Amino acid sequence: EAPLLQIDDLVKQFTVRRGLFARARKLSAVNEISLNVRPGETFALIGESGCGKTTVGRMVTGLEKPTAGTIRYRGTEMVGRSQRVTDLRREIQMIFQDPYASLNPRLRVWESVAEPIFGFRLMPKSAARGRVEELFSLVGLRPDQMDRFPHELSGGQRQRVGIARALAADPKLIVADEPVSALDVSIQAQILNLMRKIHGQLGIAYLFISHDLSVVAHISTRIAVMYLGEIVETGETRAVLRNPQHPYTQELLASVPRRRVSDRSERVRPPKGDLPSPLDPPSGCRFHPRCRHAMPECSASAPAQREMPNGARVRCHLYD
Ligand code: SF4
Repeated sequence: EAPLLQIDDLVKQFTVRRGLFARARKLSAVNEISLNVRPGETFALIGESGCGKTTVGRMVTGLEKPTAGTIRYRGTEMVGRSQRVTDLRREIQMIFQDPYASLNPRLRVWESVAEPIFGFRLMPKSAARGRVEELFSLVGLRPDQMDRFPHELSGGQRQRVGIARALAADPKLIVADEPVSALDVSIQAQILNLMRKIHGQLGIAYLFISHDLSVVAHISTRIAVMYLGEIVETGETRAVLRNPQHPYTQELLASVPRRRVSDRSERVRPPKGDLPSPLDPPSGCRFHPRCRHAMPECSASAPAQREMPNGARVRCHLYD
């Protein structure tokens, strides 16, 4: 089956200047990543904060422009502003970490949910309220909550509104950027169950971005592990979690006790040492300053991607 989303050699660099007279420097946020999302699947992108995963999501939704590389959605290159690109953008919606920040505080929540319906002219205005009512019921909100303002709802209810708003545009792909990490643990499970239910009912594909391995363990079919702007390991979620090959993935998993992978309160604890600055990424394998298996060649050259017997693809000199 042709992928819904195909990303190839995607690069994003930001120019940063610290101080008025400092010289401009390039920050390498995303470095030549490739991945694809199939129709109706949940693909997880995981890594520590600052690894570039959110930047990938923002490029996929058009909020950020790539420095190089291609993003194809249903076969169409999504960089640019042609009518075809604008039409296809509707099919890619985003759920944000903080729904409070993404909802207009001065609008009643039903109006925020209706905005994409008006914006994309999906139906006459007179029919929009009825459609929003349907969406509210789908995400587990009551009709009488439609006329509330965002501050009158709880965090979990606001995230349900954020999900309803994403669904209002009739998407085929939802980029979910840490959709539960701002919520209480008890609420996290409810929102994840809701997302799973929507996935089952509507067959929408997710690009699910998270730092929380225990969250993606249950929701995704495939996973890519990012480290400092690069994908170091990717494969079927089960295979990767059962038998991680890259030393970074191994450390991420070791920090989540096995029996508690199902406990959503357990977060990824990053490996020892700080994440190096993307302004000055380490040479060769970017993980080498923190890797217990580092060898002389690790700082000299970047490892190529290799396919392992379990189908996962790994970048590490251990497998040369
Ligand atoms: Fe560690 Fe070397 Fe593999 Fe990088 S390439 S993860 S430094 S062993």
